[in-house]
Amino acid sequence: MVSGIVAGRLALVTGAGSGIGRAACQVLSREGATVIAADRNYDSAVETIKTHTALASGSNDGDHSAVELDVSDSSAVRNLLQTTLDQYKAPPTIIVNSAGITRDNWLLKLSEEDYDSVLSVNLKGTFLVMQTFAKAMTETATPGSIINISSIVGKYGNMGQTNYAGSKAGVVAMTQSAAKELGRFNIRVNAILPGFIDTPIIKTVPDKVVQGMLKLVPLGRLGLPSEVAELITFLSSNKSSFITGAAIDVTGGF
Ligand code: NAP
Repeated sequence: MVSGIVAGRLALVTGAGSGIGRAACQVLSREGATVIAADRNYDSAVETIKTHTALASGSNDGDHSAVELDVSDSSAVRNLLQTTLDQYKAPPTIIVNSAGITRDNWLLKLSEEDYDSVLSVNLKGTFLVMQTFAKAMTETATPGSIINISSIVGKYGNMGQTNYAGSKAGVVAMTQSAAKELGRFNIRVNAILPGFIDTPIIKTVPDKVVQGMLKLVPLGRLGLPSEVAELITFLSSNKSSFITGAAIDVTGGF
């Protein structure tokens, strides 16, 4: 018998080959979910499933799967829905949009290409996955929970990140709008705004800048991916059954 707060649920996690997405797979599987780890880097998604997901204590530990997915490619997202329905006979009821990129530069130097690629993955990718999988949930009358990973930078802005900040503010507004539309289907939609979390994405930030940021964090340290994943799992579960349209900071107080 599988136990845990999301036992028996099917979860799709994008950006699952690294950082917060990988940790989400870990905690969701620990709490009994079957996980589909999707990443544009297939090998890293496989690695997540092989070495980072909990083997559920019941019989379904072999049901996790890894898939290659570029979230900004609408036909790839549609194909993933179809292969998921073929394999699992039902759509996932937990969707975690964690795929994200940065292409930092000063506003005065930012190329149109770097603007477009960040908006295309972070905002359009979240839109495509949310729209495609929410539609499947409504068609099968399945209640569900969608968790979109925004960023605290979407709330306060950050030097060198006009493209990223814009995309992440968009994720919050999109989440709140989707929550209003999907509530009648019993699909909840929430956003998480992480602060500075110790994952590969912040390796591009100069150490001097990170140290400066940490002075503004009352808890005085970087967050762990698992500390975001615990909230993702709570929002996925019925423990948060009256929470929708929320945007929750996980920042150590920043
Ligand atoms: P990460 O370790 O770089 O993980 C992001 C994953 O998404 C990577 O495996 C990446 O693959 C993948 N990805 C990138 N583009 C994709 C696409 N088009 N389709 C599918 N997968 C794609 O970063 P993270 O820190 O876990 O970030 C996860 C989310 O949290 C992101 O949305 C990020 O913006 C957000 N966030 C992070 C922090 C932080 O401090 N870490 C703070 C606030 C918000 P590649 O490695 O090939 O790019």
